[in-house]
Amino acid sequence: MTTPAPRLQIEPLDGGPRRLHLFSVDVEDYFQVVAFEGVVRREDWDTYPSRVESNTDRLLDLLAAHSVRGTFFTLGWVARKHPGLIRRIVDQGHEVASHGDWHRRVTRMSPQEALEELRNSKAALEDASGQPCFGFRAPSFSIVPGTEWAFDVLLEAGYRYDSSLFPIRRPDYGYPGVPPAPFWIHRPAGSLLELPLATFGVAGMRLPAAGGGYLRQFPDAFVHRAFREAERENRPGMFYVHPWEVDPGQPRIPCSPLTGIRHYRNIHLMLPRMERLLAEFRFSSVAVEFARELGQPVRGAAA
Ligand SMILES: [Zn+2]
Repeated sequence: MTTPAPRLQIEPLDGGPRRLHLFSVDVEDYFQVVAFEGVVRREDWDTYPSRVESNTDRLLDLLAAHSVRGTFFTLGWVARKHPGLIRRIVDQGHEVASHGDWHRRVTRMSPQEALEELRNSKAALEDASGQPCFGFRAPSFSIVPGTEWAFDVLLEAGYRYDSSLFPIRRPDYGYPGVPPAPFWIHRPAGSLLELPLATFGVAGMRLPAAGGGYLRQFPDAFVHRAFREAERENRPGMFYVHPWEVDPGQPRIPCSPLTGIRHYRNIHLMLPRMERLLAEFRFSSVAVEFARELGQPVRGAAA
């Protein structure tokens, strides 16, 4: 059992037919990850050879092979540099949402800075995609206890849903106590839909198993368990992956041994592991599965 997080006013979604699981991609380049912030300066991003287009194309091919649509939480920076990639994502029936503009953690910004970051990102993504951008995922899941003001900023910037809360306890991220199922967050200015990252329960705790590093570092069964539990409990599980996680040939950035393991270990296993996940479970995008809650027509629902 989870106890409601005391700082948030939340409300479960109405019941109804079980939804498909949710497939998401955090679209950023290999040199933009938070773990390399101390080595790679943002002002130097342009000097690194970019691989985000070719790596995202691999994920697009994987999804096309399984007839799956996903949600691509993308940096505004990527949309300005690679507008053709954004068009390919939407042309293939996927949703484009925001991963911020310059991959700055919510915990490192003031509310005013976050508002600017979220507005700039939304504008860049909407310009490139020609579609509205309703969703946000914070870099490193950085909406944590104490940064609830981020939901007010999201509403002010015109967002309708968030997928940043990881209902786990970890030193670097996590928002323990919120439910594992989608829920509404009520704020004075309005309500946001929250789609938490996939976890599973064991001995009264919730363990993270949403994909990304968890899919690379642990056996398949670990991540599959979270999606099976979600099905038993009649709720969707939210999966995530980064384009650089399917790129064994990416240039190596000097880092500590621990960061090296987190970033590079088992990258060559990621595509086969995702193939098995997509063969075992059915996935879709937030825009399609939650069109009613987001007040949107289901674009291309018959595709
Ligand atoms: Zn990220």
